[in-house]
This record gives sequence, structure tokens and C-alpha cells, in this order.
Amino acid sequence: MTGPTRMSEPELRELADKQAALGEVRGTPAADPVNLPMIRHWLDAMGDTNRTYLDKGIAPPAMAQVWTMPGVRRDAKDRSPVDDMLAALDAGGYTGVVATNCEQTYHRHARVGERLTPATRFSGLTGPKRTALGEGYFATWNVTWYGEGDEPVAEMMFRVLKFRPHRRREGPPPVVRPEPAGREPYPLRPARNRDTAFFWDGVRDGELRIQSCADCGRLRHPPGPVCPACRSANRSYVVARGEGTVFSYVVHHHPPVPGRETPFVVAVVELPEGVRIVGNVVDCPPDAVGIGMKLRATYRAMDDELILPMWAPRES
Ligand code: ZN
Repeated sequence: MTGPTRMSEPELRELADKQAALGEVRGTPAADPVNLPMIRHWLDAMGDTNRTYLDKGIAPPAMAQVWTMPGVRRDAKDRSPVDDMLAALDAGGYTGVVATNCEQTYHRHARVGERLTPATRFSGLTGPKRTALGEGYFATWNVTWYGEGDEPVAEMMFRVLKFRPHRRREGPPPVVRPEPAGREPYPLRPARNRDTAFFWDGVRDGELRIQSCADCGRLRHPPGPVCPACRSANRSYVVARGEGTVFSYVVHHHPPVPGRETPFVVAVVELPEGVRIVGNVVDCPPDAVGIGMKLRATYRAMDDELILPMWAPRES
């Protein structure tokens, strides 16, 4: 991925001032007009059984964002004043993101058939501040959705903390313990059996182990009882370097997954050792993930017993 160069603190402030000076910037009108099928799906997903919206042909106010959501492959022309700011923060190492405030104001219902247009105003950058998550900047912006003409339908103030995740120490990667300790057991337990026990023992010790054939040496993942190359049942393993690249990935938004917060990224990670492994990409916003992204293994304690290997961005 290419992006802006790393900016100093004054340069970040200068960019923030510049983006704010742009004022309200109109975006691309919604791809589709407000429509009943999307309203029906949204009501179903939210568990809202109120028939009023469908009967009257009006959109639930909280759908405001839905109509103008950018797609996965957004055009450069769809960039808002916020995108350059967030990209600069990413480039500065502030890759973590957590939404802190969202206030919406509804002026009227959007009606079926009308096409909304978003307008975004970058309203400020504060920081750097020290937080429990790491050093970061608070970025704030406002979006107004307009109907036909200049009539606002809804407005939103959105604020995120873009933070620099804590640096990795040298040596084995630290296991990130949940806080507070003693929380609910993570509901999705991996299958542990004679084929996979070596893998989970390795994870517990901060090692990424790849099964190997004890006769021909071929590596295989996921683990299995027999070598596909020479049919030997003699097994061993190697310890992988713990580095990889994104071969393919999806961003999971729905349905909800017990014990997890959506959205999260599930990637097929290609290891330099020659096998691929499925895992979550963490410590960066889902939209920063791309094919070929460099990753390093990280180990997350999901509860007091279970540790899962995951993947975090790697700079080089
Ligand atoms: Zn073999």
C-alpha cells in the first residue's frame, strides 16, 4: 500500500487546519434512492417490528448513514476531507481506531424515492493525548445528509480516537491479557485433538507451529493425520517465524458472533514457510487491511484459559 509520508506533529496540525478550512464538502449522491427493500432488511436486522416505515414509505431516521455508505472499493472522487486526515494519522503510526462519540440529529424522515447526498466537514484534531490505549489524536467531523435541494434530512457528529498501539517488545510477543481478568469464558473453543494439540500448546507458549512430515519434511496446515505427499503418519512440526502477508480476507459485519465485536477481519495469511493459515487481523481498522499487507503474529488471551493467535500489521 502507498500512502502519505509520515508527518510530524506540526504537519498533522497544519493538515487538520487545511482540511477544516475546506468547510463542508459535498460527496457523491447515494448510489440508490431510499427504498423499501433496504428499509425492510434494516428493520429485520434491528428487530424493529414497527410497520409504520413500510406502510408510509419513510426510512427509520437511524438509517441516515446507510444510504450513502461507501462501498468496499470506493472511488478517489468519493474521498471526503476526513479521509486524508485519517490516512495521515495511519501513516504516522496512529493505526488504532476507536469511535468515542456519535451524535445524530434528525430533521425529518427520508422518503422512499429520494436520493440523499452527504456533505462532510472536518471539524478538528486534538492531541496528541496519552490514553489507556496508547498515544493518540481525537479527530472530529460532521456529516449532513441533504435531500433534493439544500434541505438537511439528518446530521451526525462523529469522533474517533486514532491511537498508536503499544510497541512490541523484543523477544517472544507478549500475550495480551483481557481486562478485567476472570471474565466470561470465550464461547468458541477451538478443536483440540491428537492432530492439533501441538499447535495449541505452541500458541500457549507464543509459538506458531506448523505441522511437518517426519519422513519427507513437507509442511502442512491445517494439521492432519497423514502426509498428503508421502502418506507417512509420522508427524513433527516446525516453529514459524510468525510473519505473513494477507493473501485474502473478508470483513465480518453480520451476523453477530458470540464473544466478538463486529466488524472484524478474517484473513487467509500466507506464511513465508509456504503454508496459509486463517486468522483475525487486529490492531488496525478493517478498511486499512489489504491484500499483500505485512503481518506479524500476536497472541490474545480470550479468557483465563484460551489464547488465540491473531495477526497485527508489521511495518517492514
Ligand atoms: Zn511426507
